[in-house]
Amino acid sequence: MNVLTTIAQLREVVKTAKYNRQSIGLVPTMGYLHEGHLTLAAHARSENELVIMSIFVNPTQFGPNEDFESYPRDFPRDTELAKSAGVDYIFAPSVEEMYPHDGGITIRAGRQAHILCGATRPGHFDGVLQVVAKLFNLMQPDRAYFGQKDAQQVAIIQTMVRDYNFPVTIRVVPVIREEDGLAKSSRNIYLSAEERSQAPAIQQGLQLAKRELLESGSVESAISLAKKIIHDNTDGHVDYLMILSYPDLQEVDDQTDQIVVAAAVHIGETRLIDNLIFSLKGEIIHV
Ligand code: AMP
Repeated sequence: MNVLTTIAQLREVVKTAKYNRQSIGLVPTMGYLHEGHLTLAAHARSENELVIMSIFVNPTQFGPNEDFESYPRDFPRDTELAKSAGVDYIFAPSVEEMYPHDGGITIRAGRQAHILCGATRPGHFDGVLQVVAKLFNLMQPDRAYFGQKDAQQVAIIQTMVRDYNFPVTIRVVPVIREEDGLAKSSRNIYLSAEERSQAPAIQQGLQLAKRELLESGSVESAISLAKKIIHDNTDGHVDYLMILSYPDLQEVDDQTDQIVVAAAVHIGETRLIDNLIFSLKGEIIHV
């Protein structure tokens, strides 16, 4: 496995792969790898001749009071893990390498970004689309791998790919969890032992919301039951807990086919997100 830090090096690798008609799988990450990331890499490995993982903590998707500076980083450990997952190249550019100019041109996420994480993280998804569009242009991947853990992000990226004709297939990998149900996240490292023991209540709340919605048909009662579980079992506060159609992220109505119940919860200083996607028949959906 090789580490590339410049766009010029990356372009050489991509040029050679294209010349040899090798398929390219891209796994974009912010590093501090865990089993969720490694599952994306394993899917990429099984479907492509060349696998490139990007490790880049993208400043443009962090708000001014968010954890860009303190975001966990451990590059030596990441390279070992990526290597063991069969990644061929890591692309790990500096911020200056990725953003040497500010030409004032922005990509703006649409309607799907106005709610859920977009409501409290203004500009977050614009930053995500900016870096993802750059990575697509740089790597020209046949397939790019994203986690359903960030279901809103996946929905917005799929919209960009569709509306702007990026020649890439988006593959979505189900949420990888700890044994007690907590979604794996690089940010779980921030949790104290006490907070860590409370965090599975988020997933329990989402499960309860699903059950209540399917039984009673009431979005309101499903939401309030789920919030109660989280309030009763954690010292955290709920940033949002919503039930929407997926992937358009609108209010649920008679036409709704796929439903997402999604939450963001602050436990101590740590903001954790999770979701479940299911059909009206209650089948869990892996998008
Ligand atoms: P991040 O490094 O947090 O930006 O995540 C990089 C990619 O890994 C994104 O597509 C995430 O959705 C995905 N990912 C993060 N955590 C998980 C998880 N627990 N299960 C599946 N995918 C994940």
